[in-house]
Amino acid sequence: MAADIRPMVAGNWKMNGTRSELDQIRAIAHGVSGPLSKKIDALICPPSTLLYVATTLTVDTKLLVGAQDCHQKARTGAHTGDISAEMIRDCFATHVIVGHSERRKEHGEDNYTVSMKARAAYDQGLTAIVCIGETRAQHKAGRTMDVIHRQLNESMPADATAENTIVAYEPVWAIGTGQTPGADDVARVHARMRADLVERFGARGEAIRLLYGGSVKPQNAPELLSVPHVNGALIGGASLKAADFLAIYHAY
Ligand code: PGA
Repeated sequence: MAADIRPMVAGNWKMNGTRSELDQIRAIAHGVSGPLSKKIDALICPPSTLLYVATTLTVDTKLLVGAQDCHQKARTGAHTGDISAEMIRDCFATHVIVGHSERRKEHGEDNYTVSMKARAAYDQGLTAIVCIGETRAQHKAGRTMDVIHRQLNESMPADATAENTIVAYEPVWAIGTGQTPGADDVARVHARMRADLVERFGARGEAIRLLYGGSVKPQNAPELLSVPHVNGALIGGASLKAADFLAIYHAY
């Protein structure tokens, strides 16, 4: 049942973060504004250049570390500029974001590619955070539910479980804009995603975590995190500062 789902607050640093920002990871991991709870997962996904050092800084803390993307081939190989799920695991990271709208837009990744990336993550024992979300034009045209239904269905591999997969609903028009859907709209989309997952996966679909992402800030976190079927947040800009990330985390 949804009530038993362990929430997660996840940060996506995108193409931000040099060594000097490692202090923020240290501050989150050591719970500068109160310790991380045993009941709510905290995850930071720094750029891959900081992945290994981030995991070494968070050893023996509750902060999880993940990557922002992986190649659809799980193992090492001739793919210039890419990183594999195997490399991510080798850095001791546990999660990887796949299908973020910036990857879909800037790198032409479609649902099929995203599902292959999720499979590559499974192959290496990583948890894939599968991102879906409608564009502003789709939103305006009233197509949100259709787009979500299709993206969810096509981006999630058939062997998805609550252990190997987390879904993040991120309306593209809400990312980095300061705009968010109303709580009622988020509730409708998350209820639909839950229903779709249960229809496809049965009991497994009940337990898969559903995150909301797109302009989550300390100010709007209490409202967004209390929406039914919202099991946490995926945070971009506000995850770069430990104080903001922790304020959102402690909104639970
Ligand atoms: P934002 O980004 O919080 O800066 O809107 C969210 C995301 O892209 O994951």
